[in-house]
Amino acid sequence: MEINLISDTVTKPTAGMLDAMMNAEVGDDVFKNDPTVNQLEAKVAELFGMEASLFFPSGSMTNQTAIKLHTQPGEQLICDKYAHVYNYEGGGASFNSGVSCKLVDGNRGMMTAEQVEAGINPPDFYHSPLTSLVCIENTTNKGGGACWSFDELKRIRKVCDDNNLKYHLDGARLWNAMVAKGETPKQYGALFDSISVCLSKGLGCPIGSVLVGSEKLIHEAVRVRKILGGGMRQAGFLAAAGIYALDNHVERLADDHRQALEIGSVLNNLEVIKKVEPIETNIIIFEVEESLISADVFVKKLEENNISIISMGQGKLRIVTHLDYTNTMHLKFLEILEDLF
Ligand SMILES: *Cc1c(COP(=O)(O)O)cnc(C)c1O
Repeated sequence: MEINLISDTVTKPTAGMLDAMMNAEVGDDVFKNDPTVNQLEAKVAELFGMEASLFFPSGSMTNQTAIKLHTQPGEQLICDKYAHVYNYEGGGASFNSGVSCKLVDGNRGMMTAEQVEAGINPPDFYHSPLTSLVCIENTTNKGGGACWSFDELKRIRKVCDDNNLKYHLDGARLWNAMVAKGETPKQYGALFDSISVCLSKGLGCPIGSVLVGSEKLIHEAVRVRKILGGGMRQAGFLAAAGIYALDNHVERLADDHRQALEIGSVLNNLEVIKKVEPIETNIIIFEVEESLISADVFVKKLEENNISIISMGQGKLRIVTHLDYTNTMHLKFLEILEDLF
């Protein structure tokens, strides 16, 4: 039995999802003629109570499109030092939009409204880049699946309003945050200028992300998506997976969260583990006691037992629970952890 815990992106379509994909009605989406893509886009816009949405092949492309639409070259966006848009999109913010990032030293990937405000360059001080956008991430990836306080998000909205800044949410794992905190998509839709959500993470789709926003923003996003090479043809086969996942795979995220907590409590009891970061959703970030075992050896010993986890660098290891991590695998993994270490 192979147990792959490196990410929630490793899932394969379930039988039900494959069935939905195979039976999808399709057309050419570049001509806006794919009924299933149109249905997914209407469904997501409606979920968030926003005017429109657009289907994309990846979350990097949705974020990059939002950054492009909210900024001009030479300007600056504000994000946490852990942000995916800064660390993991290949330098896309500078490559695609010609913007720089003002990094905030937040807590587990989350900033305060005061920190955001302090990061804004005075608009008439032409020596500095003009600040035009704030990007936040919920849940935080590098921050270990942490969920924002909704009140703090509202306080940052106010800072954006007072300073004429756009506000983008990288919600690759927003579904996890909403399930963990009992929040609704409409709450988020009312707060942000644009939201990017992934279907290919916890929801278990093979591909797909959606950008949600105003009619005007999404109209402009069609062109940027085309420029980035993201205009897809019979994409309804993929959109069908997204519709299926939204109907069947959101509430079950609570199972992933429970399993993550159980893994965390076993790790916490192991002598070789120095620290487990707080677990709020499906991501577990932890450090080994280097005097007893190196992170590399820890990973290798699991590898020898057909269990894959990933290193985040700087001695931090990461485990992510997901749809394809069955209860049988879970019990086996906990048993192996206790036996091995
Ligand atoms: C996965 C992820 C993305 C998008 O990644 P893609 O692999 O391009 O779909 C964006 N933001 C965060 C926080 C992520 O975890």
